[in-house]
Amino acid sequence: MKQDTILLAHGSGGTLMHKLISGLFASKFDNPILAKLDDAATFELPPGRVSFSTDTYVVQPLIFRGGNIGKLAVCGTVNDVSAVGAEPKYLSCGFVIEEGLAVSELETILDSMVASAKEAGVLIVTGDTKVVEKGGADRLFINTAGVGVVREGVEIGAANAKVGDKILLSGTIGDHGIAVVSEREGLSFETAVESDCAPLNKMVASMLDASPNIHCLRDPTRGGLASTLNEFAAASDVGIRIVEDKVPVRDEVAGACEMLGYDVFHVANEGKMVAIVEAADADAVLAAMKASPYGADAAIIGEVVDDPRGKVLVDTHFGSARILDMLVGEQLPRIC
Ligand code: MG
Repeated sequence: MKQDTILLAHGSGGTLMHKLISGLFASKFDNPILAKLDDAATFELPPGRVSFSTDTYVVQPLIFRGGNIGKLAVCGTVNDVSAVGAEPKYLSCGFVIEEGLAVSELETILDSMVASAKEAGVLIVTGDTKVVEKGGADRLFINTAGVGVVREGVEIGAANAKVGDKILLSGTIGDHGIAVVSEREGLSFETAVESDCAPLNKMVASMLDASPNIHCLRDPTRGGLASTLNEFAAASDVGIRIVEDKVPVRDEVAGACEMLGYDVFHVANEGKMVAIVEAADADAVLAAMKASPYGADAAIIGEVVDDPRGKVLVDTHFGSARILDMLVGEQLPRIC
């Protein structure tokens, strides 16, 4: 008989667990490295420095407009591995499942992982499954780790911004945070907001094709654009000055932020990159971003200045300047 919910026995090491692993995970993620089901995956990497990153996903609800926890888990790690100028290659994934999760829901989530991994050109080559009792977890948590190889000659780091560099943003901000919170709270806005969750490695590769002089690159996830820019300003000991009117924000996201009392600069994104680029190459990198399906709304939003060091300044609509701080406390728990 086909089981329609996950049972504790699915994590026990017995026949149900083997059915779950070979029948579901291995058949969905199907590739020759995983298919061996050895204790560890083995593979060759092209020569170069290795980029290695991990993240755990606890988003609530599991499925939201524009994505789900599985898509997030693949795209988030692909984007982190890419953000040092690497081509991501292999992913691991670990699942913590609360007993009672519907197998059909798990399948939907796995299908999204397969689709995002395929789009990004990465293979899921090893994994782990644990099942915990009712109340031991909130339905499903996923951890992914990824490895990739850094492109030769590329030197990207948060401490590398130089005065005079331009600041580029690949599109609208706040979409992911507002999509998840509206799903969670049952809020509806005039136009439904979708998460921007997407694998950005191909966009990053074309940005690097356009210029090797990308100094900083980061996906502005939790804490939003404000956190990423403050991290760059502090690590590089420079000032960052952006122009509010140049930062793309959807009308419905701006409206939702106003209603909920959020500063859109603090709201999470899952499909955006911020790049700090040598001024002479900024237009070429912007054109590469815009040519990507995930960078159509890309813009140059500001520049690196020498004063005030370690801080982010925003020139507002009203002609004044304000300091943009990092998010204090927790605005949106379990957003990713
Ligand atoms: Mg990141």
